Amino acid sequence: MTTAIPAGSEADPKGAPRRAIVIGGGISGLASAALLAREGYSVTVLEKQASVGGRAGVWKKDGFTFDTGPSWYLMPEVFDHFYKLMGTSAAEQLDLTRLDPGYRVFFEGEETTVDIRSDLDSNLELFESIEPGAGVKMAGYLDSAAETYELAKKYFLYSTFEDLRPLAVGPVVSRTPRLIRLLTETLASFAGRAVHDRRLQQILGYPAVFLGSSPYAAPSMYHLMSHLDMNDGVLYPQGGFGQVIASIANIARDAGVEIHTGATVTRIVLELDPALRAPEPEKSVYDYETTEFDTNVIDRDELRRVLAGEVDAHGNGVAAAPSGPGTSTAGAGAAADSATPPRASDRSRVGGVHYLDEEGRAHELEAELVVATADLRHVETTMLLPELQTYPESYWQKKTAGPSAVLVYLGVTGELPELAHHSLFFTKDWKGDFGKIFGASKFGRFGPKGPTSVPEPASIYVCRPSATDSGVAPEGHENIFILVPIPADPGIGHGGEDGQGDARVEKIADAAIAQVAEWAGVPDLAERIVVRRTMGPADFVDDLNSWKGTALGPAHTLGQSAFFRAGNVSKKVDGLVYAGGSTIPGIGLPMCLISAELVIKRLRGDTSTGALAEPADETAEIAPLTYPAEASTDTSADTAVVAEPGD
Ligand SMILES: Cc1cc2nc3c(=O)[nH]c(=O)nc-3n(C[C@H](O)[C@H](O)[C@H](O)COP(=O)(O)OP(=O)(O)OC[C@H]3O[C@@H](n4cnc5c(N)ncnc54)[C@H](O)[C@@H]3O)c2cc1C
Repeated sequence: MTTAIPAGSEADPKGAPRRAIVIGGGISGLASAALLAREGYSVTVLEKQASVGGRAGVWKKDGFTFDTGPSWYLMPEVFDHFYKLMGTSAAEQLDLTRLDPGYRVFFEGEETTVDIRSDLDSNLELFESIEPGAGVKMAGYLDSAAETYELAKKYFLYSTFEDLRPLAVGPVVSRTPRLIRLLTETLASFAGRAVHDRRLQQILGYPAVFLGSSPYAAPSMYHLMSHLDMNDGVLYPQGGFGQVIASIANIARDAGVEIHTGATVTRIVLELDPALRAPEPEKSVYDYETTEFDTNVIDRDELRRVLAGEVDAHGNGVAAAPSGPGTSTAGAGAAADSATPPRASDRSRVGGVHYLDEEGRAHELEAELVVATADLRHVETTMLLPELQTYPESYWQKKTAGPSAVLVYLGVTGELPELAHHSLFFTKDWKGDFGKIFGASKFGRFGPKGPTSVPEPASIYVCRPSATDSGVAPEGHENIFILVPIPADPGIGHGGEDGQGDARVEKIADAAIAQVAEWAGVPDLAERIVVRRTMGPADFVDDLNSWKGTALGPAHTLGQSAFFRAGNVSKKVDGLVYAGGSTIPGIGLPMCLISAELVIKRLRGDTSTGALAEPADETAEIAPLTYPAEASTDTSADTAVVAEPGD
């Protein structure tokens, strides 16, 4: 059972702002930091890379501006809700353009393409024209998608699942048989019952890839995604997704958040029992952040521990010191830590983090709250001692990683009207290709996985933001991004500039460029390339510490969705909370914004299922939120339940 995070008054009797550290400066880290600052915390974000954004990064070269990751702006109300919580709005922060067509689909061996338009009626007509009767069936399918999406927003996406009782309300209970079917039937099977044409089935099944999954593994609950692209439409933020990140980083800074880039967190440390603290040094001797000790870089806390006789100079444990609740067992001396595991009756409490700056100097930063938004496996298995891990290596061995990707960023001379802003290229051997990426089992969905390989040709995605945004490419040029989903296997290698990546990655990139050239009818595409950079699975590991080099995070299979997905709080260390694509609710920018909000709900002990209430008047000054809430103030769900930590 985990507990709600203790109130700030307890953390700092002098009334100083409570300190929070956020590990990772991707969208979830920045959004969590902004919300925490608004909640009254003094927040520091520590980001390993030279710039913020994480997967939603930006790469510039020769007048081209490439978004390195996300390119679909879906669930616009979720972005707007986050901005509103921060006292602004999407309209104030971003210049959003509705895309029409939303996207174009190319099919292997076929000349005709299909454009998914920005309005529902056109899409229904399109389905009808391809398969008589499919228009009516699609109307029903999309009604169901819309209803499921509303249900998900109201009861599942904004729930921490700390307490499952608020889910047991009329609308969910009355739909239980349907929900069970939606959770146990695959998306591919569900779509296959609605439409028979392979191409239409592919259009309905592809959204599973956005969730790091396959239509043959994702539960049909996710048919709700079709509501997003066919009913809601697809938006694009002018300037690219870097603008979304920049706006959230600015909002966070304006709220008082400090952002340190080039800061790699190496360890989450526990709170020191004041009784065991070495006395403060008189002056100067230890009055520096870090020091060289023999050949090891160790920090001030480590020095104190050496002096206190807790560890020897090599970080090894000395005699077991008497320990009380919250005694620090972390630090550079991992051997000492494992020698003194916390007693079962002790609740370990977070005390801060150790991190390295760009020069490799070690630092310690103290805090009462740590929100880890980096890859969850990396955080759990490298920053915490085994006995403090909620999700140890044995957990990950049973889990499915979402696919990795070869990403290709291209600057191209001339125009490419053959491509829409978003274009999808679907192969005929759809099921076989997903089997290659995820490792098809001989024994069906639940059997052990078979070997993986890279499909040839692959079903790929191409983004051409220069179709909508003249600022992302120099005049007379196009900005192209190709995404080739491949197995989560870092052995496939790194990318590089101008063809200098590892051979397998460059070969996959060359094949994708040739495929676009042939299917879209641009035979001279390769010769027109003036800027080229690739990225492979090993880059996801090196840059982001991503589990198995997955581009997206744990796949949204049934066993890794909703309350089956890793939760957002450590069960072993109080004050350690999680956000981001690895945890609930899951993958994608909107989901990550929700995960940031779930941090706040967790801290308040708010077990309601709906989103936080927005400030009523956007222009009014925002009053600090009450902390901790006595009871949920959220009334968007049918039932509001008094906070009762339950897991
Ligand atoms: C190619 C691609 C296309 C995508 N397309 C879309 C799309 O169209 N629409 C959409 O909504 N979503 C899309 N996504 C998904 C979306 O980008 C992610 O779900 C989201 O950006 C994840 O954000 P995050 O903050 O959870 O993680 P990240 O962005 O990975 O941020 C985590 C941060 O932690 C940092 N970090 C790691 N280890 C440490 C450490 N030890 N110390 C300090 N910092 C550390 C990393 O450098 C990183 O900056 C796409 C993703 C990819 C890769």
